[in-house]
Amino acid sequence: MEIETILKKKEWEKTDLITLLNCRDSAEEELFRHTRQLRNATLGNSVHMRGLIEISNICIKDCLYCGIRKSNSQAQRYQLEDREIIEAAVFAYQNHYGSIVLQGGERTDPGFILRIENLIKEIKRLSGQGLGITLSLGEQTEETYQRWFDAGAHRYLLRIETSNKELYRKIHPDNPQHHFHTRLNCIRLLQHCGYQTGTGVMIGLPFQTVEDLADDLLFLKEMDIDMVGMGPYLEHRDTPLWSYRNLLLPQTERLRLGLHMISCLRLLMPDINIAATTALQAIDPQGREQALSIGANVIMPNITPLGNRGNYRLYENKPGMDEGAEESTRRLAESIRKSGCEIQPDAWGDSLHFELRTKKEG
Ligand code: SAH
Ligand code: SF4
Repeated sequence: MEIETILKKKEWEKTDLITLLNCRDSAEEELFRHTRQLRNATLGNSVHMRGLIEISNICIKDCLYCGIRKSNSQAQRYQLEDREIIEAAVFAYQNHYGSIVLQGGERTDPGFILRIENLIKEIKRLSGQGLGITLSLGEQTEETYQRWFDAGAHRYLLRIETSNKELYRKIHPDNPQHHFHTRLNCIRLLQHCGYQTGTGVMIGLPFQTVEDLADDLLFLKEMDIDMVGMGPYLEHRDTPLWSYRNLLLPQTERLRLGLHMISCLRLLMPDINIAATTALQAIDPQGREQALSIGANVIMPNITPLGNRGNYRLYENKPGMDEGAEESTRRLAESIRKSGCEIQPDAWGDSLHFELRTKKEG
């Protein structure tokens, strides 16, 4: 089927999405032009900033793809002090980011849960409730999610990683701590608690097919998700998946597929927030700007204190070592402008989808 005919549809089938994910040359240009216009017509050209603070690389999980998995004895473990986290949050507030993301390895001990709760309250208090807080701290109980929500966090990112259960099993250890159903249930719990809920997938995993990616897009739509962060899978030498690296697409192909996934998702869900993720930038320094120019509308510059930024290494060649300073924020604003977008300062940048969804429900 012609790309033009597919783009005019109101509902898309898996076969349509496979065609869009595979398209090249003039068809690709047409797809990208369409979703750029769709983003501009629905949300305008504004980009929301989130200052990313990587609070710790200590993790109780053992995901087979991740460089900070528990069993990686090569990883230099760290955790930021409360003071460092608060200073980074204040930096974000003073530099008009509007929002921060607290991300880290998963921990479920009571001390950790309480500490996060207190940090959220303190950051809200110091910013006169002004700073939006997104969390990305893995699988927790409903009670924990609720406590953190009540403390003032209002968005949460928990990727499904892949919507294909068999593939999920292949990229995680086979034990109850790493079950697909637990992950799925956590995403539902987050929605139930009232969070703007974000999920996403990795693109270009070993054993993953374009059919799987089309299913991922349909899954995100079916889950009625408010925000999505997805990006290319990048191999890390100290992980079990490293031994499958000969099965991978070249990185440039993974980047291309990543951009196609973002473009297709914008087509399916015009009013959600879609992040231009760091993994895109790891392959191409302009990867995030390319994503913004075809439909993404969120960017998450790294504002982790520099001393620890190198230790939060989910994959090889992690970029962002020069981000977060005032000068680099200015440079980023400039390159975002070149991609046809404009940073919206001091805004929480909530997902329009969430606003419309809650209005409907309320
Ligand atoms: N521990 C939390 C947050 C940190 S990991 C969690 O797992 O949700 C955040 C995301 O990094 C994961 O969801 C995964 O999609 C991504 N990630 C981990 N290892 C990766 C790799 N090797 N390549 C690309 N993305 C990776
Ligand atoms: Fe831990 Fe998240 Fe990495 Fe899994 S992906 S090992 S939960 S940091």
